[in-house]
Amino acid sequence: MLSSLLRTAVGPALSTSMTTASATTTSATTTSATTATSLLAPPRHGIPATPPPPLLCAPSRVPLRSNASRMAALDVPALQSTSCAVIASPAMATTISVPTSSQQNGRIIIGNSEAFQAKLEAIVQGGPQSLQVISDFDMTLTRFLYNGKRGASSHGIIEHSHMLEEAYHEATHNLFSTYYPMEVDPTLTQAEKIPHMVAWWESAHELLIKHRMNKKLIPEMVRGANIGFRERTNELFDLLHASNIPLLIFSAGIGNVIKEALAIKARLHPNMHVISNFMEFDAEGYTSGFAGKTIHVYNKQDVVVKDSPVHKSIADRHNVILLGDSLGDLQMSRGVDVDNILTIGFLNDKVAERLESYKQAFDVVILGDGSVDLVYNLISMIISGECDEALLHASA
Ligand SMILES: [Mg+2]
Repeated sequence: MLSSLLRTAVGPALSTSMTTASATTTSATTTSATTATSLLAPPRHGIPATPPPPLLCAPSRVPLRSNASRMAALDVPALQSTSCAVIASPAMATTISVPTSSQQNGRIIIGNSEAFQAKLEAIVQGGPQSLQVISDFDMTLTRFLYNGKRGASSHGIIEHSHMLEEAYHEATHNLFSTYYPMEVDPTLTQAEKIPHMVAWWESAHELLIKHRMNKKLIPEMVRGANIGFRERTNELFDLLHASNIPLLIFSAGIGNVIKEALAIKARLHPNMHVISNFMEFDAEGYTSGFAGKTIHVYNKQDVVVKDSPVHKSIADRHNVILLGDSLGDLQMSRGVDVDNILTIGFLNDKVAERLESYKQAFDVVILGDGSVDLVYNLISMIISGECDEALLHASA
């Protein structure tokens, strides 16, 4: 069990030093602000078992939420800055709630703690050389809300730029009005929606050709866009790069814009591979077409990694951490020969409606535009080869 490897010190602030964390003793520990807790289990690797301490944790305590209606009622005021809570029961959801270092009220829900622990343990044991990270882009790496408004998607960066002819912007707005209601129409099956999605994407791409989208506009469009990355994304990118762990970014957006957004507003390291719709340009830089098969919202799973040029770099990496903000993103690993996969879902909107389905589908659900702290900490554990419960608890 992972739990035997987990340290039990719980601190109110994120520890960014795995070295320090690894040096922690293995007995239950109490910090100044919090009391240790344990998800913990029998000894392993010479580490003595820790008797389960009482559930937590001053000064505030998160109530146990054990059913859908309670889980849906998570929009509570931000926790006090020194609070932390872990409530663990094998049969019930484990909620790890900690304060964030930003204004966002980040929240992490692990629906099945035993399954989570088993997967994490297996992936940690596999080490960084067995790991690849697969992520969606829009509203997964980027924020759902930014500057108090909806964050821009990669398509939206162009559409909202007003740097092309007004007729382009009117036409894209009309496409949205036509097709978005179909995308979210609960009376249509996915199979019924797909032809409409293909028509939407292809029409949108044709508009970029017709209205002479030039590649030299992309940097300015990105700089002017309301797009921001989740807190600690740059540190996550740097960590993956430093450890030579591939990051595959799958998107039904526009790859050229995504790469520019990463380069200008975050990081674009050589280990980061964007698999998306890429504009092709003529000699003057105007869009002349799109490379390859159109990737739309319902066919990411058909753009299998083994057909991608990056396949070679990930062929021997059979452990996956997958990040997405829609249920469809879970299909991004299709085609990858996976031994262990840990899935993390960012639930940004309509939380009450969708929480139960996300909790069922993802190993971890992060609410409310939360940071990538947890992802960073999981990667840190995999790199160090040791699981550290303090880092789990400190994830905001
Ligand atoms: Mg997305």
